[in-house]
Amino acid sequence: MPFTHYILTILAALGLALPVAVTAQVQSAPKLLVVISVDQLSADIFAEYRGKMTGGLARLQGGAVFPAGYQAHGATETCPGHSTILTGSHPARTGIIANLWADPALTRADKKVYCAEDPNVAGTASGSGQYEPSVKHLLVPTLGDLMKARTPAAKVVAVAGKDRAAIMMAGHGADEVLWLDARSGLTSYRDTALSPTAVAAGAAIARAVATARPALDLPVQCAAHDIPVPIGPQKTVGTGRFARDPGTFRAFLASPEADGAVLAAAAALRAGYRLGEGAQTDLLIIGLSATDYVGHSYGTGGSEMCLQMLALDREMGAFFKALDATGVDYAVALTADHGGHDIPERNRQNALPAAERIDASFSLGTMADKVADALGLPKPLFIAEGGDLYLNRSLTATQRIAAQAELVKALTGHRQIAAALTGDALAAMPLPTGSPASWSVAERMRASFHPQRSGDVLFALKADVTPIAEAEAAQPGRYVATHGSVWDYDRRVPILFWRKAMASFEQPNPVMTVDIMPTLAALIGLPLVGVAIDGRCLDLVAGAASSCP
Ligand code: ZN
Repeated sequence: MPFTHYILTILAALGLALPVAVTAQVQSAPKLLVVISVDQLSADIFAEYRGKMTGGLARLQGGAVFPAGYQAHGATETCPGHSTILTGSHPARTGIIANLWADPALTRADKKVYCAEDPNVAGTASGSGQYEPSVKHLLVPTLGDLMKARTPAAKVVAVAGKDRAAIMMAGHGADEVLWLDARSGLTSYRDTALSPTAVAAGAAIARAVATARPALDLPVQCAAHDIPVPIGPQKTVGTGRFARDPGTFRAFLASPEADGAVLAAAAALRAGYRLGEGAQTDLLIIGLSATDYVGHSYGTGGSEMCLQMLALDREMGAFFKALDATGVDYAVALTADHGGHDIPERNRQNALPAAERIDASFSLGTMADKVADALGLPKPLFIAEGGDLYLNRSLTATQRIAAQAELVKALTGHRQIAAALTGDALAAMPLPTGSPASWSVAERMRASFHPQRSGDVLFALKADVTPIAEAEAAQPGRYVATHGSVWDYDRRVPILFWRKAMASFEQPNPVMTVDIMPTLAALIGLPLVGVAIDGRCLDLVAGAASSCP
């Protein structure tokens, strides 16, 4: 299939393809802020493809370019990352320490907590389809919340591939918060009626999901990536073309179609809410999740990511053209919730022989039982979630300290573990400041540590260790690559700002995603008095003047 603009197909179905152009009256504050998160768009992928861009990502490179942005914290996952973008704060302050954590005190049987759920609703569990979507764990206001507090007429609308992306960027009082859904195309919080625009956009997406898609042609720019890489005896990645059977929602999500669908919905919502047409500044939040699903499913080095990057650029270009045609004076900020890295199998082929998967023998359960037996402690000794271990609550204070010491010793004894620390040690550290490039591993972990939500013991894997064992990665349909580590390949993301006619510049030194919120607040003259944040305003004016207060 040749280059298709999925966004245009859906926009045409909604009768929104070609709005009439009007001349924009450029004012001091833009009338619309468009904030885009591209899930798992690492600084490395951006560096690899930025020269090949001709669409939306080429346009944004004509603005203020920060190629060394940092999701500075250690838990480089989707929910914490999205929580930093429009709050100006590290996960330690936003409270979103991970996608999932454990709360042994929960009354429900499932002690795991999903970052974007209300676990106190009866009959829920943290698993997909069983939880009640909620923003209650986000402990701080978002830019949208502050805009609405100052100007109640300000409108805030969010649409994303994932609920946690939309929810964490939208905040507590958005007008509409939407994410992709297998059945209805788009959905929102339970018992929330969708706007007519969202219903129509969702129906168009559901029709797209129900339609089969032929394989994409491989453009010449991707030819060098088209090399098969075996993972175990039955699975190969690296040469995919995104052919899809009708009704296959999961395959839809992990393909360029999904971002086109979300961008089409965003354009429709812009029109439906008349965003940018009032006296105030409005906020349109967009979470593009396909890059992440593609990275998890195929790694970052094959034909699949190449096709995804070219499509992302193209779809975003079409979206900006549709925005241009409305005449609304808009400003764009684009970043990612975390970086990512390639599968060890391809990394080993490409001059990184140390890349490996977690040892098949690595078992936290075995370690728990061993330590419990050695110290005469109750089992299970802890609940593990990611790199956080939550000790059994029946332990006495003395037993707890002994268990922590023994677990730190056992963890640091493993050849693939870089660091193990107690929660108490992290709690005693101040939040790190200064350049995130020079933070220690413990400082990175501190920036996504919260004393009420993080574990009693935390650990980090060494660099170039993928925490998906080969036996799991080799299974059909299972993820082969991931992110979440404390290492820079997972922390570094591009940060781009663009507005019509702005003078372009590039700042290669590190900045942080927590800087985005104060930067945008300054752009619209929103004072941040009495709001505690970790970021700083980035001056977007190339000359001597400044966009910061
Ligand atoms: Zn993510």
